[in-house]
Amino acid sequence: MKRIMADYYYELDSAAKSDDKKVAWCSSVGPAEILRSLGFFVYFPENHSAMLGASRVATDLIPYANAIGYSPEVCSYLTSDIGAFLRDFTPLSKVYPGIKSIPKPDVLVFNTNQCRDVQDWMGWYAKEFKAPIIGIHTHRGLNKISEVHVVSIAQQMKDLVEPLEQISGNKFEDKELKQVLSLSKECSNLWKKVLETASNIPSPLTFFDGTIQMGPAVVLRGTQHAIDYYKILLDELDERIKDNLGAVDDERFRLYWDGMPIWGRLRAHSELLANLKTSIVASTYCNSWIFSDFNSSDPFESMAKAYSELFIVRADEAKEQYLKKMIDFFKIDGIIYHDSKTCHNNTNSRYGLPQRLEKEIGIPYVVVDGDLNDLRCLSDEQFKTNIEAFIEQLEEK
Ligand code: SF4
Repeated sequence: MKRIMADYYYELDSAAKSDDKKVAWCSSVGPAEILRSLGFFVYFPENHSAMLGASRVATDLIPYANAIGYSPEVCSYLTSDIGAFLRDFTPLSKVYPGIKSIPKPDVLVFNTNQCRDVQDWMGWYAKEFKAPIIGIHTHRGLNKISEVHVVSIAQQMKDLVEPLEQISGNKFEDKELKQVLSLSKECSNLWKKVLETASNIPSPLTFFDGTIQMGPAVVLRGTQHAIDYYKILLDELDERIKDNLGAVDDERFRLYWDGMPIWGRLRAHSELLANLKTSIVASTYCNSWIFSDFNSSDPFESMAKAYSELFIVRADEAKEQYLKKMIDFFKIDGIIYHDSKTCHNNTNSRYGLPQRLEKEIGIPYVVVDGDLNDLRCLSDEQFKTNIEAFIEQLEEK
């Protein structure tokens, strides 16, 4: 993992410094395949923000973005990332010596399938770097994705090609896109299999492992590196299953995590749950990089479908159906809903969903307050008390 992530960031850094290679910024569930097929080196600002969160520097950087007008209540990926830029800071320099800054974009490409914040976020950088910004506007809040939606998104994707050809200096080749898409599909299939090993009792990996292991699926999908990585990981997990090795000793309860991770507390939360002999075995977050609909024989339509069917962009009805399947498949005892204060897009506890699911299928739940990057929104004591009380409730049940 360390090696392939280092290779990825050094390659991006050298592309940004060269005259002939082009760098595209892309939202994490944006059209990376189109960009790669045109020869772009692809940078994902959300991965950078997650590093700011995990290294616990985000909270101190957010106020610098607040000072230029970004509310403390908007996405803390956005505010911590812009704050870091304003302070001329990047954790990349510490992790990868020689890298002095994030890679300068030649173009910024977003998809609003996850939220509008990615558009605003990249819009700020587009002005800063005087680089073009283009994107896809996805239909939000749908229960069913129909033909009309797929056609519309596929057309928006096709419309990106001409400006991207001009920026990259490369001609779009259908063959190239199909090749990248089939690599992406293979990565997605392997990542799905990795996550599905957690259906085993005891689970060989937890949600906390997943948040780290998902790196290649996010930044390297569409490349052979991600595929090679997940083949090795899958073998290791299969071996653990064969040896009956759980990620948590003496696993008693199996939980589902809904919403964003709390990056600055991954270790603390992982240890808290492990001490309670509880494994968080599945999450909507890690599952977001499974794109089962990718089909290289029909690239644009299949990408349009896969990128529009994401959990985060759907109506509660579709989300409830999805969660029911997950609860059944992963043999879940209860759900933790993270009410992430600066990401309402990936918070599903505010419109009665937990209560409806509990009423319908009897699945217990707890809602925890926190945030992906802004640790001021989290009370460690409160979090611990809530989780412990929830486990007691499951014991009684
Ligand atoms: S989905 Fe949430 S965390 Fe991700 S970019 Fe959008 S607002 Fe930020």
